[in-house]
Amino acid sequence: MNWNIHSLEELEDAVWRCTACGNCKTAYAYGPPPFFGEICPAGVEYGFDGNMASKGKIAFARGILNGDLEWDPGLVDAVYKCTVCAGCQNQCELDHKPFIPEIIEAMRRKAFDDGVGPMPSQKVVAQSMASFDNPYQGPRRVRTDWTRPFKKEKRPIKNIMKESAPILYYVGCTGAFNLPVRNLPTATASVFQKLGLDFGILGENEICCGSTAMRLGDHNAFRRVAEANLETFKKLHDERGVNTLVTSCAGCYRAILKDYSLSDEYEKMMAGIKVIHTSEFLHNLHKDGKLKLTKRLPWKVTYHDPCHTGRHLQKFKIDEDGSVQWKGSFLETSEADCLFDIPRELLTAIPGVELKEMERVRDNSYCCGGGGGVMTGYPDWAAKNASLRIEEGMDTDAEQMVSICPFCHYNLNQGAARIKSDMKLHDLVELVDLALE
Ligand code: SF4
Ligand code: SF4
Repeated sequence: MNWNIHSLEELEDAVWRCTACGNCKTAYAYGPPPFFGEICPAGVEYGFDGNMASKGKIAFARGILNGDLEWDPGLVDAVYKCTVCAGCQNQCELDHKPFIPEIIEAMRRKAFDDGVGPMPSQKVVAQSMASFDNPYQGPRRVRTDWTRPFKKEKRPIKNIMKESAPILYYVGCTGAFNLPVRNLPTATASVFQKLGLDFGILGENEICCGSTAMRLGDHNAFRRVAEANLETFKKLHDERGVNTLVTSCAGCYRAILKDYSLSDEYEKMMAGIKVIHTSEFLHNLHKDGKLKLTKRLPWKVTYHDPCHTGRHLQKFKIDEDGSVQWKGSFLETSEADCLFDIPRELLTAIPGVELKEMERVRDNSYCCGGGGGVMTGYPDWAAKNASLRIEEGMDTDAEQMVSICPFCHYNLNQGAARIKSDMKLHDLVELVDLALE
């Protein structure tokens, strides 16, 4: 397969378009009421006007490209001190806007190819991907530990490698291996069974989607697992009748939908398969009257928009031939694919749930701080940043914070524990499971 993954050199034109204006420091909405808030976790922690936020990182990209800068430990560290949350991208209105997170990842790919990246503490991810096909050093057999209660209660989950089913539930490594968020696959399978859906999992044959590797610049590991997954999905479609791939992980969803589409064989391999996030899948069933949320949950809930199901799915229109403005200029953003309304509609369809919105929401959501390899590379910063988000949630008077990403869920939990907050973290699917008879 050929992959259209840009090198830093290929992004050179975009790299020179940043004017260092600093507009990407703050998220803003004109209201009413008008609001301004910090948007860059790296800027909040390390200082926006230093080198750590996007304008500094893009300046580094220029320095690397024109030979003014050479890799040294400080430069590598600066390139990896970023959650790749795209908060800066959402604020910038200049022509390199569509490429900002890509510039940061392209610097990481270059660091990786030059043998200086990722950070020493993140190298465990690359080793784990090579040995275990997941970033958590988890043996394959542990992947199905969460299914044990289902077996015990004689409600086994189909192994889709052996039995046909139209729905593949792609669990993702975080839900499978990360003990504090195993409630997510458990709740998802429970909901699917309550609804009588014919679904299966890959079980021990599931491998990582490659998202973490891609965010860290390890494009070789990403391509390896992505190609293997695409082959598997095609085989499952042709031989097991799979027509829907549901995932409850924001990282997997973004990777399969967006990163995999960089392959020249994506259309062929995914023909006949719809990729959908659990929240949208369940929202559709609710809309069609097939999911009845009847039990009351008298909870005050705030909702955290994960970057990977939110602004990472924005699409950008570029003036390719210069017929509207000038060649290569940024024209407009589409949020049609972003999961902003869908999870909120499903959440508020649960009787008794009162949604209390934080200030920074939707495309201006404040990243939990765990993405882009930060949770592995800089765990203290990741938890500290998550505490800021928890405090923002506490300001709404909510008692529960709900999201649709196990990675955010895990990191926000760490943040709540760090400040001894009573805020409880849940995945939206867990609430749906509770609200179903
Ligand atoms: S990335 Fe955009 S908003 Fe940020 S400093 Fe550069 S031009 Fe300004
Ligand atoms: S991607 Fe996020 S953390 Fe990285 S520079 Fe942009 S706003 Fe800051």
